[in-house]
Amino acid sequence: MDNLKGKVALITGGSRGIGKSISKRLASQGATVVINYIQNETAAEDTKKEIEESGGQVFTSKFDVADFDAVHEEVDKIIEKLGGLHILINNAGITKDTLLMRMKEEDWDNVISINLKGIFNCTKAVTRNMFKQREGRIVNLTSVVGEMGNAGQTNYAASKAGIIGFTKACAREMASRGITVNAVSPGFIKTDITDELTEELKKDYISRIPLNRFGTPEDIAGAVAFLVSDDAAYITGEVFRVNGGIYT
Ligand code: NAP
Repeated sequence: MDNLKGKVALITGGSRGIGKSISKRLASQGATVVINYIQNETAAEDTKKEIEESGGQVFTSKFDVADFDAVHEEVDKIIEKLGGLHILINNAGITKDTLLMRMKEEDWDNVISINLKGIFNCTKAVTRNMFKQREGRIVNLTSVVGEMGNAGQTNYAASKAGIIGFTKACAREMASRGITVNAVSPGFIKTDITDELTEELKKDYISRIPLNRFGTPEDIAGAVAFLVSDDAAYITGEVFRVNGGIYT
């Protein structure tokens, strides 16, 4: 399938986990993919290599999504080099879990800066070009935790709930320019983030998931691929849940 041929897609945090699956999936559908990461160069290069080996077009771009100036600089370079940017997947995210009683100010600030301000930075950086093109697809990764809450994740839940409001407001601002803005809300997905959970907690979560398993990064990549496809042309401001039924 090459329905994304001629499109340039930037995937923040596209080197590992869910972002890696999204990068591979969009590249396999013909998009030229730009994989953003912050520190793990080996993971980014490995993902790049995998995509190249299957015939995809791919570049890497190292920047911190929380750094307003760096994001603008890098996005401008990408647009100049590749002649446009049609798809932005705001996927980069972190957790700094602890109960509110023990949460340090920096745990709060880090998570909000990367997860929420990062989406503001990246979306703002691509907007002028997408407006000019009168075309664009933006997909923001929120979380079931932003919708239902979770003990020990007040910072993360707040960032992910904020993303939903941001998505809905952007959708209204950008619709007249032919740009759709949606969120994908994963449940518990098997990646480095969930590998950090204790076995006991993993078992407890799985027992509460009607489909009785953690999701895979590919489950999320499929939803993202749908939202950037022509089939989703009339969908904007939506929160697309991919959570095995744990929250409906
Ligand atoms: P992950 O495996 O930990 O990968 C995180 C990615 O984000 C890496 O590529 C990392 O780059 C990059 N990154 C981290 N901080 C960054 C920054 N400041 N600037 C640029 N890139 C940065 O995460 P994941 O589990 O795939 O999660 C991806 C997204 O899905 C996140 O937004 C997460 O909140 C959301 N989500 C995940 C789950 C889940 O169960 N896994 C559930 C719901 C929602 P480096 O490799 O260089 O560090």
